[in-house]
Amino acid sequence: MTIAANLGWPRIGPRRELKTALESFWSGKKSEDDLLADARALRVAARAVQRGRGISHIPCGDFALYDHVLETACSLGAIPAGYGWSGEGPVPLATLFALARGAPAGRFGPEPAPALELTKWFDTNYHYLVPRLSGETRFGLAHDRWTEAYAEARSEGVQTRPVLIGPVTFLLLSKREDQGDPLALLPSLLPAYGAILRNLAEAGAVWVQVDEPALVTDLPPGAHEAYALAYRGLADAAPGLKLLVATYFEGLRDNLATACALPVAGLHVDLVRAPDQLDAVLAAWPKDRWLSLGLVDGRNVWRTDLRAALAVARRAREAGFGERLMIAPSCSLLHVPHTVAMEDALDPALKRRLAFAVEKLEEVATLARGLDEGEGAIAARLAESDAVLAEAKADPRLNDPAVAARLAAITPEMERRASPYRERARKQAERLRLPPLPVTAIGSFPQTAEVRALRSRLARSEITQAQYEAEIERLIAEVVRWQDEIGVDVPVHGEFERNDMVKYFAEHLSGFAFTRHGWVQSYGSRCVAPPIIWADVSRPAPITVRWSAYAQSLTRRPMKGMLTGPVTMLQWSFARTDIPRETICRQIALALRDEVQDLERAGIAIIQIDEPAFREGLPLRRADRADYLRWAVACFRLASSGVRDETQIHTHMCYSEFNDIMAEIAALDADVISIETARSDMELLEAFLDFAYPNEIGPGVWDIHSPIVPTAERMAGLLRRAANRIPPERLWVNPDCGLKTRAWEEVRPAMANMVEAARILRAELAVPAAE
Ligand code: GLN
Ligand code: ZN
Repeated sequence: MTIAANLGWPRIGPRRELKTALESFWSGKKSEDDLLADARALRVAARAVQRGRGISHIPCGDFALYDHVLETACSLGAIPAGYGWSGEGPVPLATLFALARGAPAGRFGPEPAPALELTKWFDTNYHYLVPRLSGETRFGLAHDRWTEAYAEARSEGVQTRPVLIGPVTFLLLSKREDQGDPLALLPSLLPAYGAILRNLAEAGAVWVQVDEPALVTDLPPGAHEAYALAYRGLADAAPGLKLLVATYFEGLRDNLATACALPVAGLHVDLVRAPDQLDAVLAAWPKDRWLSLGLVDGRNVWRTDLRAALAVARRAREAGFGERLMIAPSCSLLHVPHTVAMEDALDPALKRRLAFAVEKLEEVATLARGLDEGEGAIAARLAESDAVLAEAKADPRLNDPAVAARLAAITPEMERRASPYRERARKQAERLRLPPLPVTAIGSFPQTAEVRALRSRLARSEITQAQYEAEIERLIAEVVRWQDEIGVDVPVHGEFERNDMVKYFAEHLSGFAFTRHGWVQSYGSRCVAPPIIWADVSRPAPITVRWSAYAQSLTRRPMKGMLTGPVTMLQWSFARTDIPRETICRQIALALRDEVQDLERAGIAIIQIDEPAFREGLPLRRADRADYLRWAVACFRLASSGVRDETQIHTHMCYSEFNDIMAEIAALDADVISIETARSDMELLEAFLDFAYPNEIGPGVWDIHSPIVPTAERMAGLLRRAANRIPPERLWVNPDCGLKTRAWEEVRPAMANMVEAARILRAELAVPAAE
């Protein structure tokens, strides 16, 4: 019988219960036992939902309190020194959270313990913590979280499929502090994996899912051999277990032969992202083994075309896999919201087109049934799917002729600033009169309970729009005054009017829809509720101009206006699939271009267009990248180039490795770029130095993902490193990112320290201090 399988479940909970639990634990309101009990309740509920939807391969071990990569590292004993773990036995929660969030001086030693680096999980907006390994790392099974998870489900009578990050992917996602090849650690890592598999076999597990998404990437030298070695080791460790190697986010392409040579019982392939790999997979994967078909999109919110998906499954059956098929989502459902059922405010026609995690499992089970019992058995489901698709296709609201006309009228000049950077820089310097090493923030200041309460009171009509705006103005006035006092050269208004950098803009553009509970985990307790782009995008009216103009009226210093860039708007939304992403991005770029020009007209001399997701949109395969970069760069330039030379365009990026896209980052031709560099100790800056980035740079000097307040000396040290290689006249001083998630108790001293750090450096470099 065809197996209806799932690869992973959204762990945050339908109402973000995990977020609530974590945050009350961190603030001391909840005990460790309570936190663990809440986490368990979430897992129990998750199993019940999956079972109720007819899934027979339910994952376990996919849950994590903060991040599954971090928990894998901890369970494998791959923990750097200085985090309070003795090297023996289970890793204390304090160690886990210190690795995730950093710990202050005095907790584990005289120095603060920095958090591990945070980076994007493949091309998703989920962030994992990068394990720090070295030749000294002694892998050992510190804590068998997988067998524990399996036993927990088993105690309820539920047979589950444990999920492990495969050893090769785990190593490739890690960083070696001693610069060695992470794959060289494979022989010392394998015994720990062997132990897990033996424990699982002994506990009664039948199938084990081993995630190897690295198999869809361009593999580094040695990886093919590593795969062969690793899976020979795993197969030998527990010969009775059936291993399913899961690949997702792309096709296997040239790694297909490597995958097919692995001595495992099953292979999962992503047929949503890479439908064209079907023939090659059907031809190459041995017919006496299991094939898991990822037919339901785990990365987007749209319903599956059940008839088309069933046809694909049939082809697999006819190709000779017979009964040895699994139907599954394309990847873990971690990347989609929980259920459409809770959405009571969506346009009903749009709502019918959506499927979140719960509904996706229903689709999986329906397809499995249709494959076994024939179309007739799922006739009603097929008819419904057909009807919804037809209705969507015919919906006149999707296409706006005015948007099409503007798109058709884009000229190459619209994607170019009038003069080259050097000339612009001269005119900007004359206009702005900034000191060397100007200090600025990235845009947002703390989203306090007060700010959030204002928004919800407005939403509940407890205050009028006018009252709300007056309150926001009061908050803006406060932070403008404070920045003037401490000496921030380019102040920001704090973004208090924004709930979220994408949602806020989306709410002011047409073509977007919003969920009420559509939360997706971004990292740890941080969640985002991506808007849904379902129709053509345009800007009915100016968005931020009134706030920026008000803030500017309060100070003589140049106020920076902040917008979310077109690529990030697209990347952090769930996008329609009936037109190319490139077209959607151009539509957004045109809308933002109008906003940029309106800001300029309102006297805003510095405009920052945030593109933190620019790197994340990069296709996983090098061969696909040029095309993406072509349109992504063009869209940024379309949004930003409509201003005079004297107007300074900034961009901001974070959580990224920039090495492989430096030419394109330079091609954005922003006058200033701020990047996240503090957490990596300026390592990320290297790319800009090697490339000789031609415009101005603000390397982040404060890791804002950690609650630790950096001293002026620490930040001056980072600046010193940067100033060694970047001419001071092109260096800016700023935090790694926006400060909305931080508390004022951290922001006030840290910003003051940052100003002080800039003063120290200006004095050292013997350039005049701020006037
Ligand atoms: N301007 C945004 C802020 O300050 C940028 C956030 C981001 O890059 N993620 O919050
Ligand atoms: Zn950022």
